[in-house]
Amino acid sequence: PRCCPKEWSQYETGLNNLSMKLFDTAKQQVVEFAPNPTVLMYTCGITPYDATHLGHAFTFISYDVLQRRLIDLGHQVKCVRNVTDVDDPLFAKARELGVHYLDLAAGEEARFESDMTALNALPVHSTPRASSAIPDIRGFIGMVIDRGFAYESGGSVYFDVEKFPQFGSVSHYSRETMIALARERGGNVDDPHKRNPLDFVLWHPSASDEPSWDTMWGAGRPGWHIECSALALRELGTTIDLHGGGSDLIFPHHECERAQSEAATGQQFVKHWMHVAMVSMNGHKMSKSRGNLVFVDKLRTQHDPMAIRLGLIEHHYRTEWEWDDGLMARNESRLAQWKSAAHVGGSDGDSGLLTEVRSALDNDLDSPTAVQLIDDASKNGVAVGDSARLLGVVI
Ligand code: ZN
Repeated sequence: PRCCPKEWSQYETGLNNLSMKLFDTAKQQVVEFAPNPTVLMYTCGITPYDATHLGHAFTFISYDVLQRRLIDLGHQVKCVRNVTDVDDPLFAKARELGVHYLDLAAGEEARFESDMTALNALPVHSTPRASSAIPDIRGFIGMVIDRGFAYESGGSVYFDVEKFPQFGSVSHYSRETMIALARERGGNVDDPHKRNPLDFVLWHPSASDEPSWDTMWGAGRPGWHIECSALALRELGTTIDLHGGGSDLIFPHHECERAQSEAATGQQFVKHWMHVAMVSMNGHKMSKSRGNLVFVDKLRTQHDPMAIRLGLIEHHYRTEWEWDDGLMARNESRLAQWKSAAHVGGSDGDSGLLTEVRSALDNDLDSPTAVQLIDDASKNGVAVGDSARLLGVVI
């Protein structure tokens, strides 16, 4: 794929390392990540019913650092980040507030975008909404049915996991664990219309106050997983280089996406699965249901958004971490320290710092080491501006 001279010339400018290593969830090890010049990337985005919390921000800023290093390596990155605006929690919140679900979604989506911009996330290639994909979803379900991987029962269409023996090979969870997680995460395992408790909904009837679309299988709405499969196919094609999201999406969401996508197209869906760890507070994963959330928009009324970004990237994307009250103070002073050394004594390229920071990122996106390297350099009077910029920190 890197055969033509024009592409090679991209790789020869400013590059000191062609080999990036990243952990692959499905392969369960750190592997070489060497995509084509154009990287096709899909990250599961938000369900826009509430403000962005630090856990969301950690996920998307981790992919932003990856995107920045890939661009630095000479790649063009096409990152799609969907908006799940057809989903149970959104309908529930709209019902509670007495507003139209799309009005609620539009407002929260704008709030999320403004948080991402403040944290200096690069624009992504597209942010398609699930509500824009109903015709794509209908066609997609038709493909899955035609190829014999789905059945109709009780007004719904289900994916038949028995027909897909590889089911479970993204998460590597046992059948018992999969059933337990499906039960916990809205998989409706006791639904009497299913042949197997792990079968999942592709299409189902809507409640009376929910949106509903006509199909040949009956009126209703799509299941959650099918939205991402249909959008990935529409926006990026059959096979994508890297699929991401929070680690709570490994099962059932990504397992189900993979099964239905490969059932529909007969092709490999994802070459590399990358998941970002959860952020916790008071000993539990930050979640709406527990209410232990730190919201980005609130935090940035009190702190420099670049200090918030530093507070995220000082953690490794695969390590769960806990919010602590010293996080912002620590990173405010780090930001001040970096600023003091932005352009002292030449450039980072001359000192070798930039090379070291690039190597850290190429080693399974080791941003904590990159941050530490910049900390040390800034204290030793070495310029850090270019290295900070590679991490998306404007100083
Ligand atoms: Zn998704």
